[in-house]
Amino acid sequence: MKKVVFVFLAIIFITLLIPLAVVYLLGANPASDARGVKLYLADEGRTIEIDEDDYIKCVVAAEMPADFEPEALKAQSVAARTFLLSRVKAWEDGTQTDHPDAPVCTDSTHCQAYIPEDKRRESWGGSSDANWDKISSAVEATRGEVITYNGEIISALFHSASASATENAADVWGSDIPYLKSVPTRGDEAAPSFYSSVTVSADEFKRAVEDRVAGTDWTKGLYGNIARSAAGGIISLDLGGVNVRGTLLRSIFSLRSTNVEFEEHSSDVTMNVKGYGHGVGMSQYGANYLASQGETYDAILKKYYTGVEIEHR
Ligand SMILES: [Zn+2]
Repeated sequence: MKKVVFVFLAIIFITLLIPLAVVYLLGANPASDARGVKLYLADEGRTIEIDEDDYIKCVVAAEMPADFEPEALKAQSVAARTFLLSRVKAWEDGTQTDHPDAPVCTDSTHCQAYIPEDKRRESWGGSSDANWDKISSAVEATRGEVITYNGEIISALFHSASASATENAADVWGSDIPYLKSVPTRGDEAAPSFYSSVTVSADEFKRAVEDRVAGTDWTKGLYGNIARSAAGGIISLDLGGVNVRGTLLRSIFSLRSTNVEFEEHSSDVTMNVKGYGHGVGMSQYGANYLASQGETYDAILKKYYTGVEIEHR
């Protein structure tokens, strides 16, 4: 008789408590309301899960100076979220396999820059809390917003500063992207080292080019046959008689952009450079200038990304 009662109680226990536990774990846990992001920590070689807003805040903190205008920080927040969603889609489609456990990583040359709290505090010092509050407000004010073109998440490329116009994606990488068109930009000269230059001897110039370009013939000159975009960037040029893309010239000499003017003095070559970055998409210093003139983040984004919409996802 006692055994029957025990079995009866055990059945009650299992049928009542297990569903209650499941309901608690799925619904009542507040942490499960937030969208999580799997993030590969490139310098530690491991993957963590982080709240989406927190991830975007750490990206904005790394990608844009915290003393920028609030509307510029909001524009950067939406661009960072758009980049994240494009990476998530690529990961789900199986086209992003460099870090198979996570759609995004913390390597700025591969995904987006990311700065964790300890490093932020180290670089911001006494302004840490104020800066973090300002960036948090920008991210939270645009929660869930992304940039789309014909309903699709865009490649929200951005750069630090352009000369007087941004670059067509086609002029930089050879393939046309309808929303990454050259548009005029202002205020970019406020960027630190907007003007920069690199000087090398003619021999150093040749050696550096030979390391990356096969078949050079220096009797044809050091450089020449320069083709420029309307924005002023070098699309292509001859180096030792071999035609290469402007992006390769930039890479060989670690130039800040492809907006380069050459100067030769005796046996030296000087490359005078304007702006910083690939020049495609949103100019961050241009965005900050527009924000200082009273433009809102959505108007700023629509200026730099042609024909796009801002949507909730
Ligand atoms: Zn990555």
